[in-house]
Amino acid sequence: MKKQDISSIKQLLATPKKIVIVPHKNPDGDAIGSTLGLYHYLLKHQHEAQVIAPNDYPNFLKWIPGNDHILIHDAQTSTSETLINEADIIFTLDFNAFHRTGNMEQILTESKALKIMIDHHQAPDDYATYMYSDVRMSSTCEMVYRFIDFLGDEKCIDACIATCLYVGIMTDTGSFRFSSTTSTTHRIVAKLIDKGAQNSEIHNNVYDTNSFERLQLLGCALTNLKVIPESRAAYISLSQEELNRFNYRKGDTEGIVNYALSLEGIILAAIFIEDKQEGIIKISLRSKGDFSVNDMSRAHFNGGGHTNAAGGRSEISLNKTIEKFISILPSYNQALNHA
Ligand code: 5GP
Ligand code: MN
Repeated sequence: MKKQDISSIKQLLATPKKIVIVPHKNPDGDAIGSTLGLYHYLLKHQHEAQVIAPNDYPNFLKWIPGNDHILIHDAQTSTSETLINEADIIFTLDFNAFHRTGNMEQILTESKALKIMIDHHQAPDDYATYMYSDVRMSSTCEMVYRFIDFLGDEKCIDACIATCLYVGIMTDTGSFRFSSTTSTTHRIVAKLIDKGAQNSEIHNNVYDTNSFERLQLLGCALTNLKVIPESRAAYISLSQEELNRFNYRKGDTEGIVNYALSLEGIILAAIFIEDKQEGIIKISLRSKGDFSVNDMSRAHFNGGGHTNAAGGRSEISLNKTIEKFISILPSYNQALNHA
């Protein structure tokens, strides 16, 4: 962050403010961890802070400290919108464009509040007065740690803030294994543990609270796994009927795409998930090395994200979406075979 911006933000936060903190739609561990970590920090400085999530999120995140104070815009719309209209400052965390907040897009676009972005996605929009955007960062949680440190308040990070931030660093780095994990990430994680984050308990809360049906759904997904060796690609599909059969709950498909990427020699992995209610196919793309799924998703699937992890959507049928994916692969064969 620019020195000038840091001192301006310091000045801004020197007196109590009304602050709203917003993550992206379908918030994940990094989105909930970063917004709640910042929330606890701002409360310590006598601000009136409120996290407003666009919509609901998985149960495996609902134990994080402060969870019970989160407002869900889609369920508590008028309370949420009053708070947004009255806010002095809106922090937008873990996303790069207002359309990533679903139904909150309009109210955020119209809001006169000062905006501060903290985010690590590529190609951010230009809506924020202060922008802390860095695609090299492992997670927005790592950035919130650095942000608090920039403000000279590292010592303010207590066990509660440390727990929130640990969650997002852990989930966005695939438990510290993706290439975005740096030695600094590990040093920050070590400090979070020193400050009271119970690392083993956090892993257990997030990863070892599966329902029986979720594991059966995983079994179904693995049965549907297909490999395209000439493109070093693999993909998984889940139809709405299959999701219903295993009593799908939000979050149940999280991480399944990584099984496709774990195949030896595979550089590109995709999962296609039918969502009849929204009338779309939700796509998750993952890659290894230099192959950019952000570029692929922007070019073909209405989405984006990071080099090695991106999301997207399609409005044609599940089968047609898969056909489209297979049909575009040859144009990437050279890149995939040299990645
Ligand atoms: P996922 O596949 O888990 O939905 O998303 C992978 C990564 O890409 C996450 O960091 C997510 O925030 C980001 N992402 C998902 N969809 C979009 C999108 O439509 N646009 C952008 N810029 N990023 C996305
Ligand atoms: Mn993130």
